Amino acid sequence: MAKEFNAFAMAQGQFDKAAEMLGLDPGARSFLRWPQRELHFTIPIKRDNGRVEVFHGFRIQHNWARGPAKGGIRFHPDETADTVRALSTWMTWKTAVVDIPLGGGKGGVICDPRSMSEREQERVCRGFIRQVASLIGPEQDVPAPDVMTNAQHMLWMMDEYEAITGHHAPGLITGKPVGLGGSLGRTEATGLGAVFCVREALRRLDVDVKECTASLQGFGNVSQHAARKLCDLGGTVLAVSSWDDEDKKPYTFFSKTGLDIDKLVEISDRFGAIDKHKARDLGYEVLPDTAWMEQEVEILIPAALENQITGDNVHTIKPTVKLVAEGANGPTTPEADRALRERGVFSIPDLMCNAGGVTCSYFEQVQSNANFYWTDEVVNARLDRIMTDAFNAVADLAERSQVSTRDAALMIAIDRVATACRLRGWI
Ligand code: NAD
Repeated sequence: MAKEFNAFAMAQGQFDKAAEMLGLDPGARSFLRWPQRELHFTIPIKRDNGRVEVFHGFRIQHNWARGPAKGGIRFHPDETADTVRALSTWMTWKTAVVDIPLGGGKGGVICDPRSMSEREQERVCRGFIRQVASLIGPEQDVPAPDVMTNAQHMLWMMDEYEAITGHHAPGLITGKPVGLGGSLGRTEATGLGAVFCVREALRRLDVDVKECTASLQGFGNVSQHAARKLCDLGGTVLAVSSWDDEDKKPYTFFSKTGLDIDKLVEISDRFGAIDKHKARDLGYEVLPDTAWMEQEVEILIPAALENQITGDNVHTIKPTVKLVAEGANGPTTPEADRALRERGVFSIPDLMCNAGGVTCSYFEQVQSNANFYWTDEVVNARLDRIMTDAFNAVADLAERSQVSTRDAALMIAIDRVATACRLRGWI
């Protein structure tokens, strides 16, 4: 029987390994293996047909030693407490590896916004905030958009929080619309940050991006902007995949001469689902879900879900692949990670690769709190500097200590968080 995947067990396993390599003391280990605080709650809402439906939600704050907890809120029918625990843990390491003054948190609601009206989604957003308002805030815990949540959701949440507290609080939440407390560049930041890492990794591998082809899983926020930036740098995207609501399964969209990202965006819905009929009209092949992983490309960017490259399918990755850039959180299992490393594939681990989003969220919060907003150029230049410096610190440590890039990133992050806890006198 296949082992059931548990994201939190994986996050704890990664932590244990890095803590061992760091020689972390037992007190720090037992503290940092677990979230500092968890909220589990229900959100009753009236559906448009008058029926009451109860959704289950979570807000989990893994660590706030280095600053307010920070992390997105996901709406997903398969959400679990353990997934949110894992994601909140990864947020702590992520903010630490790029050295921004924030901790780690995550939220989720077990629901499917694709089958809900706008008004129903608004009720879930407001209900979520009513449950967590006393434990979040610009100086406590700062949420953001994540899987299937967007700027509109964030604005409803901010509005509910301001109604409860009675004052403006744009620093409560990030990923807001530009003009209403949002930062220029935030929407693109995660994809852009991933490609800044890809650019630096290719430099180290002495490979010209213009000679590179890529395949991405997903075509949502992260994937769309990563794909576009990669093309801007001269690379070619041969394949992307996305969920198909009609057939209730994902498909891969492929072109051997390269996909036109702008055209694909035009035929995608706001959840990043590509219309397969229109894709065929554009001359693109519609292939089975796993085909994105099986292409003869140099770069793979899993940018959809966790647990995608596993011990069972890692052998389907072609020998042409030199680089795996983890846009998504937790897309590669430890077994697959080892196999890729043995094959000499350079991995950019999730906590480093997709840290552009939280870095720009930090910029947004700074701007919101100061009520002074920066230009696109300033945002992107600061993002580039932070991502490039952090990536090079990780890659240097990996090379120097002969450890994987994931272990190196975790070692840098865990050391910073443990030091903050120690200096505060917590451990
Ligand atoms: P999104 O909801 O915008 O897009 C998700 C994409 O994945 C969609 O195109 C969807 O069709 C596709 N998809 C869903 N199920 C699929 C499946 N089984 N196979 C293939 N494709 C599938 O989400 P996003 O914001 O782009 O986030 C993607 C990943 O990146 C998640 O792991 C998220 O936690 C992580 N992440 C996002 C951000 C951010 O700023 N958005 C930041 C850091 C990490």
